[in-house]
Amino acid sequence: MVIDGDEIRSAAAELLDAGAHDPLDTMRHSAAHVMAAAVLDLFPEAKLGIGPAIHDGFYYDFDLPRALTPDDLAAIEVRMGEQVAAALPFTRSELSRDDALAELAAQGQDYKVEIVRELPEGEVISFYQHGTFKDLCRGPHVATTAKLGPFKLLNSAAAYWRGDEKRPMLQRIYGTMWATQEELEQHLWRLEEAKRRDHRKIGRDLDLFSFHPESPAAPFWHPRGMALWRALEAWSLKVRTEGGFVEVRTPAVVRKELWETSGHWSHFRENMFAFPDGDHEVGLKPMNCPESLLIFKTGLRSYRDLPMRLADYSWLFRNERTGALAGMFRVRQLTQDDAHVICREDQVVDEVNLALRLVQRQYEPFGFQPRFKLATRPDKKLGSDEFWEMAEGMLADALKGAGLDYTLDPGGGAFYAPKIDVFIDDALGREWQMATVQIDYQLPERFELEYRTAEGGTARPVVIHYAIYGSFERFIGVITEHFVGAFPAWLAPVQVMVVPIADRHLEYAGQVREALVAAGLRVEVDDRAERMQAKLRDAQQQQIPVMLVLGDRDQEAGAVSPRLRTGESAQGVPLDEFIADLRGRVEARELWPYAADAREAAATEPEAGAAV
Ligand SMILES: [Zn+2]
Ligand SMILES: [Zn+2]
Repeated sequence: MVIDGDEIRSAAAELLDAGAHDPLDTMRHSAAHVMAAAVLDLFPEAKLGIGPAIHDGFYYDFDLPRALTPDDLAAIEVRMGEQVAAALPFTRSELSRDDALAELAAQGQDYKVEIVRELPEGEVISFYQHGTFKDLCRGPHVATTAKLGPFKLLNSAAAYWRGDEKRPMLQRIYGTMWATQEELEQHLWRLEEAKRRDHRKIGRDLDLFSFHPESPAAPFWHPRGMALWRALEAWSLKVRTEGGFVEVRTPAVVRKELWETSGHWSHFRENMFAFPDGDHEVGLKPMNCPESLLIFKTGLRSYRDLPMRLADYSWLFRNERTGALAGMFRVRQLTQDDAHVICREDQVVDEVNLALRLVQRQYEPFGFQPRFKLATRPDKKLGSDEFWEMAEGMLADALKGAGLDYTLDPGGGAFYAPKIDVFIDDALGREWQMATVQIDYQLPERFELEYRTAEGGTARPVVIHYAIYGSFERFIGVITEHFVGAFPAWLAPVQVMVVPIADRHLEYAGQVREALVAAGLRVEVDDRAERMQAKLRDAQQQQIPVMLVLGDRDQEAGAVSPRLRTGESAQGVPLDEFIADLRGRVEARELWPYAADAREAAATEPEAGAAV
């Protein structure tokens, strides 16, 4: 059962952890302390949540008497600067559990009290102090506040204490900090660029999809958005078919009993849409796994039937909090390119290896270079150490067998098994977690899956779960921002815009259109009574890869004059030749017309990039 980012870890340990001891992380986490000191200076009654380093900076959560304004952030930033100028040393001290509780309770720091209460008995309880500010903390820290890098506070946002909406809502202040001024400026530029690339804006400008208050669940897909979706889906299905998968489809409405068997009812119920149906209670499926297993159970399976590789691309429903919804990145109705492999234990390494190869193959035409992380046993886990040793070893073997470099994410596994997480960097250098490959011994147990062995006995299979795009919705959000809407031709909703110069070319334009459609290409004719230049400009703005200008000479010769989105053009190309060329590029899923313009724009200096 792949529960996105829902791994169970030791909450108290995580709350205290200052992150890996990377120098930049240490600096960023120290900045969180400096920010907390500044906030307490402005709001002496503030209660502190947690303040970790994050991938581009830091944050701290505060319980404050009123909502923060941009002026507050400016005032906090000034006070942080004063502390940096004062070069205050960070000093470490330790307290017994009782003394720590007494001191924090006396300060009214209720959230800190809660953290200390959850620490295991006998744990050393350490504090770090700079100036007059002292914070419960595991460290490490920089030597003095003068060692902080250039930083900027970005914004504040609501955040529930421990991510739990039944707990108080705190205000989280985000800051970014870098080793050099240049890196800070580059990062601030990236943030601006990310706004320009916002998929919600591009989706509207390119007529791909829209959001409406009438549905709090999902976007509305326009014709061009559906064309993009289908191109992605066709590619994913092709990769799956090559990998030996067959497609299944299972119902959205499922009785509660199935979710009880799978464990979703006890672990995931809050995130499910459930309602009564006559005498029964039913839930909309948040995941496909249990139903795929029911299909497995419809027959007697032999060792020869395994592996069984089932792909299920049906709708899923997750009752995410309204506040957590974010464009296409988090929706309540989603579709995964979901896969379940039911196999023998001796096939697990090969099957995970296959999954990793399919991930690489599927990402290739986007120009993404996936990175792999092996997420190992968390503190709270099911199963013996021997089980984890074996399961982690199988995933490592599969990674090595695929010749892949990977890093470890210690403690990042799900509570029931380790997994491999796949990350990509987009054109802005933002890291996205995409695919996850998860092995699972729990669901086969819960569903009592069995197959007949070669020796005539019965054995329990293993399930491997994976989705490569993840959800289509989120993936489309990511690639829309990555390409800034300038999709390569194989993905582009409209691959060719035919632009007849005058009305007398309309009939020929219709013939060209028919020939392109017959070749399986996506084409539109701009037959508006506009000047050619205006039509070309509009097609360019719509990021259409190829514009085909048709004039007298083209018509007489049965030719076309293509202009690419990237500026190259040719004249009098025979229609057949043009079609064969474009079809070849689309079928090969080339990154063409060279979509690296998006990447180059991101890689260049801020001044040059801003002009793109
Ligand atoms: Zn600290
Ligand atoms: Zn699954």
